[in-house]
Amino acid sequence: MSTTLPLLDPGRDAPGAGHPTTRPGILDVPPDVLRAWLAGRGQPPMRANQVRRQILANRATSFDAMSDLPKPLRADLAAAFAVFSTRVERHLHAPSDDTHKLVLRLADDRLIECVLIRDDGRATACVSTQVGCGMGCVFCASGLEGVVRNLTAGEIVEQLVRLRNLVGADPGRLTHIVVMGMGEPLANLDNLLDALAVAGDRTGLDIGQRHVTISTVGLPAKIRRLAEAGKQYHLAVSLHAPTDALRTRIVPTNTGTGVPAILDAADEFYARTGRQVTYEYVVLGGLNDDPTHATELARLLAGRKAHVNLIPWNEVDGLPYRRPADADLRHLIDTLRRAGVSVKVRKRKGAEIDAACGQLRRRAEAGLTTEDTEGTEGRQKAEENRV
Ligand code: SF4
Repeated sequence: MSTTLPLLDPGRDAPGAGHPTTRPGILDVPPDVLRAWLAGRGQPPMRANQVRRQILANRATSFDAMSDLPKPLRADLAAAFAVFSTRVERHLHAPSDDTHKLVLRLADDRLIECVLIRDDGRATACVSTQVGCGMGCVFCASGLEGVVRNLTAGEIVEQLVRLRNLVGADPGRLTHIVVMGMGEPLANLDNLLDALAVAGDRTGLDIGQRHVTISTVGLPAKIRRLAEAGKQYHLAVSLHAPTDALRTRIVPTNTGTGVPAILDAADEFYARTGRQVTYEYVVLGGLNDDPTHATELARLLAGRKAHVNLIPWNEVDGLPYRRPADADLRHLIDTLRRAGVSVKVRKRKGAEIDAACGQLRRRAEAGLTTEDTEGTEGRQKAEENRV
């Protein structure tokens, strides 16, 4: 793992050293409130759409750059609002696969992460939905200190806009969103749906619903609510085990839900949306990868419209998990395929910049630089395994 990548382009829109703005981010100002604010200055309601279009479509990063607005109005906007409520704390780039990772400092000084992944002509944004996470999956750095708060819709959209602004001429825009960063997305469903509605706006980021994947640890009631929303988003459920006894050891919140209820809700999601559900399965050597588990998983998913992503664990000092043996991984794949379940082994992107969530933020919070952490590769790898 490289630990000497350059730090790029700290946010230039921040008003003070190290701290984000205290002015409200304009993307979190409700349209009717913004229209009323504009009316108070004798401006027509359509100015509100102009401002949003400048940020979402034209890549404006300051009010001054919004050349279709009157100059005095630009100054008034800049005095009252910030284009971005966040500040880029760190920006890392992996030249080998063109992955970008941003650590953003929020207005309340908390840190979150988001990642831009390039693959096969795609530009995919991986975004966070919470500060921290309350799910406590045993292999994940994001959940170590629990959940601090939900992100606002504007804070989620800002991640998309900042990542989109890093996309060059090819393909020139974000093509996909995966909601797999820090936090449990369905625990912040209302704000997430609001943010994704903005992302889908044809006059802005213009990301189609079928190009959005929402990953969840499996909250049955929220999966049903998502299904009822009538959207074409793709659902990925982090299953990691075929039985409740084993899953509760890996995903502690399973005690309150249970595998059957999660699968029922996922089946309902498929029935209502027609969208195949993906099941994520971190393969932990010696824990969830023996032939019994393979058979149980195949039995569980056979006959369901399901796809399985297997994510082999990478070994880490200090954690009691090991990489699965090739033969066990092969057996898992073959058993699932024999049962008619579609399966893939997922490749990781951006490993040299710790593209999995939680790790860079934790290092930034501890005041460590990438160079400071040289020699702590074991823990970094632990955090890479998060899905
Ligand atoms: S893997 Fe996801 S759901 Fe589990 S603790 Fe980490 S961020 Fe939360």
